[in-house]
Amino acid sequence: MDLISSRLEQHFFNSFFELDEEYFSSVSPTALKEPKVGNINNLLAKDLGLDENFLENNQTFDLLTGSDIPRDMMPISLVYSGHQFGVWAGQLGDGRAITLGELSVDGELWDIQLKGAGTTPYSRFGDGRAVLRSSIREYLCSEAMHALGIPTTRALCIFNSKTPVYRESKENAAVICRVARSHIRFGSFEHFHHRREQSAVKNLARYVIERHFSKWKSDESNYKKLFRFVVVNTARTIAKWQAIGFSHGVMNTDNMSILGDTLDYGPFGFLDEYKPKFVCNHSDHQGRYSFQNQPRIGLWNLNALAVAFSSLVPHTELVECLKEYQPEYENVYTRLMAEKLGLEHTSSKRLSNIERLLEPLEKNKIDYCIFFRSLSDYKLTGENNYIKDMFLYSKDFDKWSYEYNKLLKHETVSEEIRHEKMLRVNPKYILRNHMAQEAIILAESGDFSLVTDLLHLLQSPYDEHPSMSRYALNPPNWASTISISCSS
Ligand code: AMP
Ligand code: MG
Repeated sequence: MDLISSRLEQHFFNSFFELDEEYFSSVSPTALKEPKVGNINNLLAKDLGLDENFLENNQTFDLLTGSDIPRDMMPISLVYSGHQFGVWAGQLGDGRAITLGELSVDGELWDIQLKGAGTTPYSRFGDGRAVLRSSIREYLCSEAMHALGIPTTRALCIFNSKTPVYRESKENAAVICRVARSHIRFGSFEHFHHRREQSAVKNLARYVIERHFSKWKSDESNYKKLFRFVVVNTARTIAKWQAIGFSHGVMNTDNMSILGDTLDYGPFGFLDEYKPKFVCNHSDHQGRYSFQNQPRIGLWNLNALAVAFSSLVPHTELVECLKEYQPEYENVYTRLMAEKLGLEHTSSKRLSNIERLLEPLEKNKIDYCIFFRSLSDYKLTGENNYIKDMFLYSKDFDKWSYEYNKLLKHETVSEEIRHEKMLRVNPKYILRNHMAQEAIILAESGDFSLVTDLLHLLQSPYDEHPSMSRYALNPPNWASTISISCSS
């Protein structure tokens, strides 16, 4: 049996120790009371080269619940700062996340981190814990995003416990084992820049290059290349969020990954009805992180990162890189939307006004995910009544269909092929709040069966899954009463 513990002994790295201690603190997790496995993500376990029974080994169980850490392991928490809701917040850091080390998989290092494993020097007034409900949401959503082809951190397993935590009421603490190519954030660079520790900014950039882009190591313009990489990949990830209808909810610079991966799932939400002004985080009263603002905020955050890179890269070159953001975003977004609409041969010029095709969806209160999935059955010469019925105003459908037909006429592929292709880009299943909520309520009573079922469902969101098809319908009325805030 290939146990994680034996892999840890042989292959566990602590590359952060190449950095000085000012970047992190050595920490020990605090054991949970009566930890129990809630779920194991077998797909990820396989990707990491672990046997699917890896948690049956007591040593591994103790390690991943934070109960007992082998003597030669050196867990750490990272320091970072950040802009929260547009305001400089000063030092933050991993207040409840502890990185055990990195696993090497096919030459790439993956951070193995426990989220909710107790206090660290960066916990400030927090208890270092995470409640079960927010842990389940992150666990399911990061896997859903991965399956949708969106760069993201992942999650290997989730543990429930009897450790009490106090939020609005008393809840139980949970731990997820988060797996990421990197946990370094825009705020990690901002931290040292704002302390005027420019050599520390440089060392951090060097570390990132060494770990992720070793081919640039001796390149003269490697810091510029790194910054450009962040700009382009942030633009790409946010374009993917917009096309799938994902709202992150807390795009503070401390929640932005230096690799452009989706990081720190809190009060996120997928669009039900298409609503550009959708704000998923009930604590975001100004709507700063509304769905439609995300691309703009991505650039705002990159500007904050540019400031932190100002000692490494000349100003004009930073600006040159920042200018690549908008075109990159638009290219990727337009391509993805064209795919969603089943348009392969329509020129991007014709597609430049994609918003015009989306506007009627808002006025007619149409579910974004269901609409695009259903569109795969659209016939150029048909009545398309099932789509028409989604519109509150039939005149809007007539206008919409006239515009869509104009685009479809340029297509050369057959309707059958278009149908098949559209089913591979328009998911049948997304993680809607009520689905997570149902799984949470059951799990709070000790039953993780729906977590297991939803994980499987969301890991292949383009497949039909007839026995779960009720999750492909419009959300039930009670879903609108679910309120998701930053409390986690
Ligand atoms: P977040 O809003 O989850 O991105 O967290 C913002 C900051 O607060 C980060 O530094 C977190 O580590 C910290 N934090 C959030 N919740 C807790 C907690 N329960 N205990 C300690 N620190 C926390
Ligand atoms: Mg965070």
